[in-house]
Amino acid sequence: MARNRDLHPAEALLQLALDAVRRGNHRDGLQRCEEVLVLLPPGDDAGRALATRLLALNQWRLGKPEAAVHTSNRALALYRALGDAAGEGEALVSLCMAFVALGLYRDALDTAVRALAAARESGDRRIESWALNRIGVAYEALEDPELAARYLHEALALARSHGGEEEQFAAMCNLSSNALVAADCHLRAGNVDAARAASTAARSHATEALALARRSGNTHREVVALGNLAEALTHDDDIEAATALLTEYHQLAELHGYRPFELTARYDLACLLQRGGQHVEAVEKLVALLLALPAEGNTDMRRKVEHALYASNKALGRPAEALQHHEQHARLEREHLVQRADAQARVLLERLEYEKAKRELALARDDAQAQRARAIELEGEQHRLRAQAEAMARAALEDPLTGLHNRRIIEEMLPALLRAAGSAGTPLALVMLDVDHFKRINDEHGHAVGDRVLAALAQLLRQHTRSSDLLARVGGEEFLLVLPGATIEQGADKCELLREAVECHRWDDAKPGLALTISLGLAALRPDDDSGPLMARADAALYAAKRGGRNRVMAG
Ligand code: GH3
Ligand code: MG
Ligand code: MG
Repeated sequence: MARNRDLHPAEALLQLALDAVRRGNHRDGLQRCEEVLVLLPPGDDAGRALATRLLALNQWRLGKPEAAVHTSNRALALYRALGDAAGEGEALVSLCMAFVALGLYRDALDTAVRALAAARESGDRRIESWALNRIGVAYEALEDPELAARYLHEALALARSHGGEEEQFAAMCNLSSNALVAADCHLRAGNVDAARAASTAARSHATEALALARRSGNTHREVVALGNLAEALTHDDDIEAATALLTEYHQLAELHGYRPFELTARYDLACLLQRGGQHVEAVEKLVALLLALPAEGNTDMRRKVEHALYASNKALGRPAEALQHHEQHARLEREHLVQRADAQARVLLERLEYEKAKRELALARDDAQAQRARAIELEGEQHRLRAQAEAMARAALEDPLTGLHNRRIIEEMLPALLRAAGSAGTPLALVMLDVDHFKRINDEHGHAVGDRVLAALAQLLRQHTRSSDLLARVGGEEFLLVLPGATIEQGADKCELLREAVECHRWDDAKPGLALTISLGLAALRPDDDSGPLMARADAALYAAKRGGRNRVMAG
């Protein structure tokens, strides 16, 4: 009780709907499902899917296959959106039975095969058993009882190992009625022994189903099994035993208020009388049954009763009555066929529209995908452009031959470095560096060798400076080195180190046996200094170094 108080009203109703379905009370189940669908909170998609599927099941059981197709398709779409393969399998099982009821057997088979795939994907063996069962039912409807039997046996085996009683029961009942169809086929083919074997099998399956139903105490199933077994016995002309079973069937149906079963039992009993040649009694029961049928619906039963009345009246030699019932039967049969054809057409049309909508959705999805791809392409293009812009910006500051900063760095960075040193009061040394007699190298070895020497020299200078130092190629064979934090003495030491490194370096990569020296002019930052005067002093020092004999360091 306390638990129920916590349930949302829709959930409580859903439980009631499930109970109603389990009890076979489909009218009640249908109403509850419809109420649940109204009451469910918007976000509860799983609840909506379940209520929709149960609604379809009730519609089918209540003889509304067209509505059941529609509702099953809705349930299917909901489960698909949830990515629930097991639910999809169950919705497809419902859809399959609605197709069978509509006489759309090919669609039923296709749907059952899809149900099997979904069940296997989900790994739910119980639903797999239902799907196999429905494939069997579809094959039986397509008049291939042998293939049907194979699937039904598979369904039964799976139900025994993994399913519940309901699945076992359904497989046994369907095997029983399928065996009767097979027996008729064998009889038509004149194969009496095979026919007898099939009808024995039908009886044994029905007997087993009845035992199972009785064991489980499910009267609804018990009634169904009684009907099946009575049918098998009737097939074997065991009228007495069949009558006993149908009488029990009738009583149980009456007791539990299973109205459709009650009517079926009365009809079957009348047919047994007819079969035993008791036409007067049969007519009496059939007329009473006709009057008991509700005005609306039950056209299936009405049609069957009219036909039975025609047959018995004919046997009794009452041509006027026989003709009247024959006409009624023909009219109902015509109506039934027209209605079924209409329903089939509507269902197929709905599917066409659904498929059209699906195609449109797929097209829209393709469109969206194309747009997404274009967006990614644009993003890539943007990325490329940005990289290109960065490369160009870098190129504007970078010397392509040596990879060092170019002359523009003097305007871009030097003033900021000087300002920073000035305000921090830290020393800074600036060096101008020039290759000695470089013209000769070009002249003697060619411009390409000159280029290689410049690139190698840049590499060497980079190795001997820190990343915080600023190194740039400011002319053909002229370099600028800024040493933040370095006093004039430290700067001079660094210059000496570089000079020596260049002099001692082996330039074999550029030209075997090549000798190279550099001259360096050095200046220290003074308070209120600017880049112009500082560079001029360094230049002057360089000039002095050149004049002093090259391969030396001079401070300005
Ligand atoms: P000094 O010791 O007085 O500096 O003599 P130098 O020959 O180095 O002086 P000068 O300035 O007269 O010559 C510099 C030469 O550098 C002239 C030019 O051909 C060469 N040069 C300038 N840029 C490049 C370059 O990018 N590649 C090559 N291979 N040579 C270059
Ligand atoms: Mg030079
Ligand atoms: Mg020069």
